[in-house]
Amino acid sequence: MNGELAVSPAAYPPPEIDQPLAAPSDPDPIEVGVCIVGAGPAGLACAIRLGQLLADDPASAERLGEVPVVVVEKGKQPGSHLLSGAVVNPRALQRLFRDRKPIEELPLLGPVKGERVYLLTPRRATPIPTPPTMRNHGNQLASLSRLGRWLAREAEEAGAMILAETAATRLLVRGGRVAGIRTGDKGRGRDGEQLANFEPGSDLRARLTVLCEGSQGYLTAAALEHFALRSDFPQTWELGVKEVWRVPGGLDRVIHTLGWPLRPGARYREFGGTFLYPMGGDLLTIGIVVGLDYRDSALSAHDLLQEVKTHPAIRKLLAGGERLEWGAKTITSGGALALPKRLHAPGLLLAGEGAGFVNVPTLKGVHYALETGMLAAEAAFAALAQPGAPPILEALSGYDEAVAGSEAWRELQQVRNMRQVFHRGLFVGGALASLMTLTRGRFPAGPFPSEPDAAVSLISTDRAASYPAPDGLLTFDKLSSVFAAGNKTRDDQPNHIRIQTQVPRRLGELWQNMCPAQVYELLDGEDGATVSVRVTPSNCVQCGAISAKGGRLTPPEGGSGPEYEGV
Ligand SMILES: Cc1cc2nc3c(=O)[nH]c(=O)nc-3n(C[C@H](O)[C@H](O)[C@H](O)COP(=O)(O)OP(=O)(O)OC[C@H]3O[C@@H](n4cnc5c(N)ncnc54)[C@H](O)[C@@H]3O)c2cc1C
Ligand code: SF4
Repeated sequence: MNGELAVSPAAYPPPEIDQPLAAPSDPDPIEVGVCIVGAGPAGLACAIRLGQLLADDPASAERLGEVPVVVVEKGKQPGSHLLSGAVVNPRALQRLFRDRKPIEELPLLGPVKGERVYLLTPRRATPIPTPPTMRNHGNQLASLSRLGRWLAREAEEAGAMILAETAATRLLVRGGRVAGIRTGDKGRGRDGEQLANFEPGSDLRARLTVLCEGSQGYLTAAALEHFALRSDFPQTWELGVKEVWRVPGGLDRVIHTLGWPLRPGARYREFGGTFLYPMGGDLLTIGIVVGLDYRDSALSAHDLLQEVKTHPAIRKLLAGGERLEWGAKTITSGGALALPKRLHAPGLLLAGEGAGFVNVPTLKGVHYALETGMLAAEAAFAALAQPGAPPILEALSGYDEAVAGSEAWRELQQVRNMRQVFHRGLFVGGALASLMTLTRGRFPAGPFPSEPDAAVSLISTDRAASYPAPDGLLTFDKLSSVFAAGNKTRDDQPNHIRIQTQVPRRLGELWQNMCPAQVYELLDGEDGATVSVRVTPSNCVQCGAISAKGGRLTPPEGGSGPEYEGV
């Protein structure tokens, strides 16, 4: 173990060169009724529900103009940037399509037929009783990227316009209220110069904007700051890395593992676990989730997943198989304590994971995204149904009331401290979490202390020495994983990653090891204690981890990034 120099990423914040807020300035803006940012489950449920409501009320639809509902999505198509486990609680889908479509018509992969939880040590897998939060009876298996593509078609049928390959890069604010968004330019070179195919972005002026950007939303962060909506408790994140495999015989049950390859000691602050889910036929997904409050600069979620696959109990499940796809994404994990003080501001609603609606102990966010998206649609419809002036703040507060009365809200309250207690290590945290389950969240009465992921001081260990060497069959290096994500980023695109580039070695190592896509390379500084960080933004799969650990992911050119098909 090396020295204990106190370095935390928060001491090296990203340079402030971007302005996520702007006044409307486009002389020829596109006028829309409701502008939804993000074609994930939250944004698409919002668009579908609005379409349903407007179909029953043509006068309101008329008032919203020629383009009543638009959904802006930075991925090449809806679903391109969607990544999840995904075991989905179907209740929100049932509610969204009630009387319109039976659940059998949705592109789901079937119900969970069995499940097992194992505690792993390097050589053994010991079955343990399934904790209540990990029970999946009645849930459905899915590929979120495929479900997203299907939901987008439903949204279009319901009357929404979907603008794919379009990044929302500015939140338009005028007179203290949100007036829409600005889309990013396309066709700029590395230094910002206009290339032959240059297309300028434009202003989308909206009567109401609904931010559904998912984890690490760029405009969401700006809105939380500008309208002072942030909770008094810090938001935190986990990093998930997953692969899709074709294996002879497939997999017949949902498997979760705890323990190895994460270390249980409180000193490391390693929280997480792995999941293996059937995906129908001979397909399965395997992934690992690691809390980004970890301390060891040598930790790499990408390589931990490679290591997990070498465990005898897991290796045999993958035997004779082939990796088809790979992806990585952060998960918002602060839970109820970190939810914004309000979910609305003048001209604005916040829904889905971007606002913090994820239940990390159950690893579920899809149905909360759908539920809050639907509730946002209902609040938007009610507020916009009043003719004339833009919706007043009181009209939008109905959204907060509806969310506070929802199942998502109630369930999140019950697990409100459950993620935070794992700062004490796996065993103490596990015991406290059991008490919380027994008391339905009443223990402890108050909030458990927590700190931002970037504030956690770093240590360095020799952890990386035990990551397996890539063999191209079972284990892979980061660049072949980026290839398996179908990454579409141009090599000469402007850099969308903001970090300080001269930093202590330990921080540079943290970024280099943490990034699952090999974006950061370290060049030795003169004194050995400092390094220069070289960035290769074209490798980035937009997972968002850097925003939790001292840097910032900004929206890259629309249409760039991964092209997830079945993750
Ligand atoms: C590894 C992993 C495993 C998970 N497992 C499960 C599970 O098994 N079950 C479950 O229920 N949940 C699971 N989750 C959580 C779940 O996937 C999310 O909570 C859910 O997808 C959130 O939906 P959303 O619509 O809020 O955001 P997202 O699904 O993230 O969608 C946001 C969309 O907005 C787009 N976007 C973002 N910013 C912009 C911008 N500025 N301009 C234009 N477009 C933008 C993105 O490209 C994306 O398409 C998992 C998550 C991960 C990462
Ligand atoms: S550079 Fe991209 S892929 Fe790497 S950690 Fe940051 S957001 Fe994730």
